[in-house]
Amino acid sequence: MQVHAYGAHAGDKPLEPLRITRRPPGAQDVQIDIAYCGICHSDLHQVRAEWAGTRFPCVPGHEIVGRVAAVGAQVTGFKTGDLVGIGCIVDSCKHCADCDAGLENYCPDMVGTYNGATADAPGWTLGGYSQKIVVHQRYVLRIRHPEAQLAAVAPLLCAGITTYSPLRHWRVWPGMKVGVVGIGGLGHMGIKLAHAMGAHVVAFTTSESKRAAAKKLGANEVVVSRNADEMKAHARSFDFIVDTVAAPHDLDAFLVLLKRDGALTLVGAPPTPHSSPNVFNLITQRRTIAGSMIGGIPETQEMLDFCAERGIVADIELIRADQINAAYERMLKGDVQYRFVIDNATLAA
Ligand code: NAP
Ligand code: ZN
Repeated sequence: MQVHAYGAHAGDKPLEPLRITRRPPGAQDVQIDIAYCGICHSDLHQVRAEWAGTRFPCVPGHEIVGRVAAVGAQVTGFKTGDLVGIGCIVDSCKHCADCDAGLENYCPDMVGTYNGATADAPGWTLGGYSQKIVVHQRYVLRIRHPEAQLAAVAPLLCAGITTYSPLRHWRVWPGMKVGVVGIGGLGHMGIKLAHAMGAHVVAFTTSESKRAAAKKLGANEVVVSRNADEMKAHARSFDFIVDTVAAPHDLDAFLVLLKRDGALTLVGAPPTPHSSPNVFNLITQRRTIAGSMIGGIPETQEMLDFCAERGIVADIELIRADQINAAYERMLKGDVQYRFVIDNATLAA
């Protein structure tokens, strides 16, 4: 089946309208009419070939929400009309230790929603900047938010789970002092989620203009990270810091803010490496630097339900498909509060 999509033919070319083919749903497949798709900074890294290995044409998009349009004969959990989401994973081996643990995100054969190897034409997966997608039922998430919030739910499928998973893994508890570095798509969800878990949340930003807005998201304190005195006031005080910044920066500036045994977990994925941290900032307080990538399917469902119960959604700016290239430029300038979401109905316009 042919559908309208938006994608690029090369890393130095803008995104443009495309026609792509979706497979007919197999026995285990769910076919989804996509209503909205969020724009993640990973979409920009990938489609502009900032990360290695982009295959063109590239159709980004892994913050997908919509309605089930058809299901295969062996699909048990979903029926036509259900509100569902697809995040960053559309396949995995389904039998390794990671898949058995519900950590499909760490399966060596995990297939990303775009740019992943697949038997479908053209040989790599094409993402959510499109009218429809067909996905094995294992990777389909149920959305329990009211339909009116659907567009603002889309960013939970990547920005939400990517911050929720490390907050859970590093066992954020009420009263724990948690830092969130970078107030973009991921960071603003990190603030909301850590606040909902009862943490004392400190947001770090390079943008003075985000100071007031970060408090509204649930930050107890906001630190402008370029201000050395503000940073120094928090030395050796954090249990946990999650760093969402999309560009290389000074990790030592945040390491020294951790208490003994504290952890700095990187989720931002800049195309070029950070400079190496000073080992003395690790050994002298038994600190850890770690990383975390999205989350498994069961935890993604847990996060969606956690958010539905508490009325948590992303703060979004809804755009038409023909505004995607301009949205990328604005995202690079930090000029969005805090996530662009595409109205996929405009793909056919
Ligand atoms: P975003 O909306 O662009 O937010 C990134 C934020 O980082 C900016 O809003 C800005 O916040 C801060 N920043 C500071 N200096 C920057 C610079 N020189 N360039 C860019 N940002 C700078 O991006 P996002 O969608 O949240 O994604 C953030 C990163 O996480 C990206 O690298 C993305 O690929 C990665 N990611 C990783 C995973 C994973 O599984 N680990 C999943 C999704 C995305 P302030 O203005 O507050 O300083
Ligand atoms: Zn993403």
